[in-house]
Amino acid sequence: MLTRAAAERLVSTVPTEPYLAGRWDSSQSADTFDVIDPVTERRLTTVAAAGAGEVDRAVSHARSALDEGAWGRTDGSTRALLLHRLADLIEARSEEFAILESLDVGKPAFEPRAIDLPQTIQTFRYFAGWADKLEGRSIPTGAYMGRPTHSYTVREPVGVVAAITPWNSPTMIGAWKIAPALAAGCAVVLKPPEDAPLTSLLLASLIEEAGFPAGAFSVLPGLGAVTGQALIDHPGVDKISFTGSPETGYKVAVAAAKGFRRTTLELGGKSPQIVFGDANLDDATMGVAAGVFANQGEVCAAGSRILVARAVYDEFVERLVARARDIKVGDPFDEGTTMGALINARQLERVSGYIKTGADDGARLVTGGGRPDRKGFFVEPTLFAEVDNTMTIARQEIFGPVGAVIPFDSDTEAVTIANDSDYALAATLWTSDVNRAHALARRVKAGAVAINGWAPLDPRLPWGGSKLSGQGRELGWAGIEANTEEKSVTAVLSYAPDK
Ligand code: NAD
Repeated sequence: MLTRAAAERLVSTVPTEPYLAGRWDSSQSADTFDVIDPVTERRLTTVAAAGAGEVDRAVSHARSALDEGAWGRTDGSTRALLLHRLADLIEARSEEFAILESLDVGKPAFEPRAIDLPQTIQTFRYFAGWADKLEGRSIPTGAYMGRPTHSYTVREPVGVVAAITPWNSPTMIGAWKIAPALAAGCAVVLKPPEDAPLTSLLLASLIEEAGFPAGAFSVLPGLGAVTGQALIDHPGVDKISFTGSPETGYKVAVAAAKGFRRTTLELGGKSPQIVFGDANLDDATMGVAAGVFANQGEVCAAGSRILVARAVYDEFVERLVARARDIKVGDPFDEGTTMGALINARQLERVSGYIKTGADDGARLVTGGGRPDRKGFFVEPTLFAEVDNTMTIARQEIFGPVGAVIPFDSDTEAVTIANDSDYALAATLWTSDVNRAHALARRVKAGAVAINGWAPLDPRLPWGGSKLSGQGRELGWAGIEANTEEKSVTAVLSYAPDK
């Protein structure tokens, strides 16, 4: 059994400075910030924040690594090799990553062990597979002034990519941005979340060992409003890949509009999980509970709107409540803990505020709603029944373990409620009728629909949403397209065939 003390000792081995131009660099950093443990509320470590100077140097070095340096000359098969090596190094230290993520984010280590780390490693390996397959097309174009033409396309890296990640799953979400960008040949400057920067700093310590040339990958810890803002405003950044709140996503979009730079924005959701009357209720109970409570509900794809057919409504609510009450909230390092703490005091206040609003608006609190009597940013797994889709708790992203259970009377009504949202990221359908499942999967507005399972992750699948959930796709082939520009080349041939 891993102890908290052993986990805290591990923190002292993690570098706490910006990593840029192939080395640790805090020469100009005047500012620092504390990393707080969400469970004990104690300081875990202090990290040097990158200022505008470090941002400028990181972007300039990334640019020259591409334009004049070794990285720009690295061919696809070598990039594949480097990404595979990085995946191997992460795998060799995956237990350290999992423990640090658990400590930093406040979640039980079984989650990073079972999900974040395997997904991270798989993502690097998947994109290693693309790195030497970025082929162009040959396009049969017409004659130009009577002369034959030969046209083809090439796929080139977008350039310098700024990756900005959130605190809920920084290792995995980081991999979703870093791996496709490096596979495409871009240089990456990562700004990890100030609330949970440790695994991103550990990752930076593996970059050189994997063999990446200086400037290919930098990590700039710091506050969003300072380091993040300086990075998105920097004209040397060609693309911004962001995951976080719609409010910050908007700032990213505005900054990117200057120079019409590209973005990928993943901004969360209010995803429906629809339980039809013919669903296997054992499976649905397990899956829906995971969908709303995994990672303390701090998941962009959290299935926080639970739509249940009236015929099974009471039974399902009862089952879900029993499941929620089985969850053991506590220190991630205590035996048996299945849910940890929220990330910080602000998030606790926010989630608690939504719970109060739910009750004030007339939803029926069926379980949870309180806080364990202890230190730490804990909140109980909470469910509201008889929720109307117009209520605040059904409309706004809570980003905590709070589910809103909404009844419906017909398939059409279920789809109407599901689509009546400002968000469109993910949806889950629970039914034993395969025809209904596939027909309705087409009608639900979401970037990803899962049938009889909650949000199965796979780097081969495109990931992203629309409306307030953002723009563009990460992962899959879409991840490569998002990090490349397609260029056409046409040669007008000086050869004219005999008349
Ligand atoms: P945030 O959007 O403020 O932070 C996300 C990242 O953006 C962090 O790395 C942060 O440092 C950076 N950032 C903040 N301001 C910036 C700026 N002006 N310029 C550039 N970068 C900036 O999100 P948060 O405060 O960490 O969380 C607030 C809410 O966002 C949550 O309650 C939740 O609803 C949502 N959220 C969504 C996701 C998701 O996966 N979609 C993840 C985390 C948070």
